[in-house]
Amino acid sequence: STVPTTTLNNGVAMPQLGFGVWQVPDDAAEATVRTALDAGYRSIDTAAVYGNEEGTGKALAGSGIPREELFVTTKLWNSDQGYDATLRAYDDSLRRLGLDHVDLYLIHWPAPAQDLFVESWRALEKIYADGRARAIGVSNFHPSHLQRLLDEGSVAPAVNQIELHPDFAQADLRAFHAAHGIATEAWSPLGQGKGLLDEPVLRELGEKNGATPAQVVLRWHLQLGNVVIPKSVTPARIRENIDVFGFELDDADMTTLAGLDAGNRIGSNPDDVN
Ligand code: NAD
Repeated sequence: STVPTTTLNNGVAMPQLGFGVWQVPDDAAEATVRTALDAGYRSIDTAAVYGNEEGTGKALAGSGIPREELFVTTKLWNSDQGYDATLRAYDDSLRRLGLDHVDLYLIHWPAPAQDLFVESWRALEKIYADGRARAIGVSNFHPSHLQRLLDEGSVAPAVNQIELHPDFAQADLRAFHAAHGIATEAWSPLGQGKGLLDEPVLRELGEKNGATPAQVVLRWHLQLGNVVIPKSVTPARIRENIDVFGFELDDADMTTLAGLDAGNRIGSNPDDVN
């Protein structure tokens, strides 16, 4: 495949571009994920709460692609936090996916009001120590939450999957990750398509580079070193979003895109999610 990999802090290679399946209904997930696999994606990002692990698993099994060429991520839902509940939730996700391990298991949100994420992390460490997940990480963690895992845990998170797009560029959090060997994975990398992709500057940079606005945004992420997981259910867009390795933004383009950062969070502040 043409997709480069990021080497995680435990040596595991993760494709820098993958396919996200949030809001894809379970009965559509098999066909949609199959379209993505046919287009060349090998990394799939799902979660227990997305309700589509079964359809995703069917697509993986039906594709005939060797397991070792796939990179599958799923996530622990908030109501399953706690040591024993996490271990049970992981078994349930594997059963729905039809897999004996995932490549990356994430705590979906810190859910700080529950204050169970350190305990849940110990369960992920157990899963990892038993060789049942190739890497473990988190999602939507602020630096204060990450610091508790670094201080109280025995394995550093490999990844923090966070909301990140040109108008919400998360420079401070990316710097914290870089300082601690945590890979930055961008969710809603296209800003969910609304608004951001209509920015005139993206059309201009697209014309200059022979690319679409979405492709310009994905290049920006890749050149910053982010892992990206764009989502689409439209086959032409699924193919468009992985066709981003034939051009490069120059320094001036990257500076122009830095000008879009407006601190424009679309999703919830992780402090408020439980
Ligand atoms: P996204 O930024 O990937 O945008 C997807 C939307 O953008 C599509 O539904 C479509 O409307 C539009 N789009 C996609 N490709 C396009 C193209 N080429 N041209 C024009 N429009 C296009 O948004 P997302 O789905 O929110 O995020 C991607 C993935 O990130 C999710 O599927 C999920 O796997 C993950 N995610 C994780 C969390 C988390 O809390 N960890 C939260 C949200 C999303």
